[in-house]
This record gives sequence, C-alpha cells and structure tokens, in this order.
Amino acid sequence: MKRGLFKTGAVVLNSFDYGESDRILTFYTLSFGKLRGIAKGARRSKKRFVGNLDPMSRLDLVFFHSDKSELVRVEEVKLADAFPGLKADIDSLSVGCYLLELTSEMTREGQVMPQVYTLLTGFLKAIEEGADPVAFTRFFEIRLLSMLGYLPHLDACVVCRKTDNDTQKRFSSERGGIVCRPCSIGSAGLIPVSSATAGMLAMSAKLDIDKLRRLKPNAAFMEEGERLLYDFIKFQIGKELKTKRFLEKMRKAEARA
Ligand SMILES: [Zn+2]
Repeated sequence: MKRGLFKTGAVVLNSFDYGESDRILTFYTLSFGKLRGIAKGARRSKKRFVGNLDPMSRLDLVFFHSDKSELVRVEEVKLADAFPGLKADIDSLSVGCYLLELTSEMTREGQVMPQVYTLLTGFLKAIEEGADPVAFTRFFEIRLLSMLGYLPHLDACVVCRKTDNDTQKRFSSERGGIVCRPCSIGSAGLIPVSSATAGMLAMSAKLDIDKLRRLKPNAAFMEEGERLLYDFIKFQIGKELKTKRFLEKMRKAEARA
C-alpha cells in the first residue's frame, strides 16, 4: 500500500482502548483485507466517531497509511450498518461475535480478499434477518475455509482417494479430511461423521446465501458439523476461540434453565 489517504468499506472485528483516549481496532475491509488501525482521541472526541467503532459495525472508513507505522490512522468513519437486530438478541449477537473472531483469526494482514468481506457482511445480515444462527455458523465456517484454501476433503478418502459406501465415516483434522477404514488404522483423534453430514458440508461450501437459506439441515448435521469443523479450525489456527467458549457456556446455562 502506498502512503496516502484511502477509503473503503469495513467491518470492525475488534477494538480495545489504548492510552488515555485512543482506540486500536482491527477491521476487515473490502479493498485492503484485514487492517489494524488507531483512532486517535476516539474516547475524547465524541462527535467524530460516536458509537461507530463498536465491533460488528459496518462502516465507510477513511484512513491514512504511512510507511512508518504498522497501524493505519482512522480519519473518518460513517456508519453504514450497525446490525441492531443482531445486537438485540443474545444468541445472534454471540454468533455474530464468533464470526468476527473466526474471520480475524483465520485471515492475515496483506491478503486482500473482497469475497471474505462480502461473506462476512452477507452472513451478519442473513442472521439478522432470521436465518438459523446455528446452521449459518456451520455454513460460514465451511465457506470461509473454502475461500481461504483450507476446505477439508469431504468426499473420498484424503489418503488413498478411494470412495467407500460406509454410512458412518471418520474425519481427521490432521490429515485434512475423511479417512477410509483401512487408512485410519493407527490414527488418533478421529471424529465420527455420517456420510449425509459430510455430503451436506461439501455441498454448502459451494452455495451462496440465498441457496443456503433453502437448506434444512437436521440435528445430526448441526451436532456432527460443529464438532468436525471446530476441531479442524482449532487445528488450523492452533488455539481455542474465546467466543466459542462463551457460546458453549451459554448453551450449558440454557440447558440447565
Ligand atoms: Zn483410504
């Protein structure tokens, strides 16, 4: 990126206070991929950035980039969408936060992928408009993995490339896909997955939001898909996601209530 002033669409992935009055933010932007920036005086000058730097907000962002700093300087923001419907409901809000953290952890600065921006904003909007947050979390995970080149091998065996007729299959995050019975001997950490779930995951990786809305995944897909994808994601990024732990805590609390 050259030195200068730039404008782009952006979603706030996260932000934290810095020093006396500044705020450091991570954005996913349409034209520049993931960006980290500083909003000087964000907490002092209420009128300049008021309410517009909250995580999940979609903005028209104007920033200044110089070669001297790793952080761009946030000059001006205009709120394009605050997703109020998402934030009004604790379930969809926590799912939204998970999508933000996942995007932040899976992408790296300097990698420009407008399709990731479109995916994230499209999914936030779809969940706000009533798409099933649990199913759409699975669809987001598989679509994002696919875009970033990490789509696991879900049809044939990832080792020997043969297909079998087993209705119950085994998935290996380490190998990056389904492993057939003979190839799985001696492997640890295999995740059971039905061929129906594996098939639906493979299909949903290729579908756009309108087509995904029409899918009616069953309870087995939700459960198996979550276990498989999260194990694979954890393997890829090498750590747990904070928002995932929160989602699990909430679910346990709901089950008790
Ligand atoms: Zn095999």
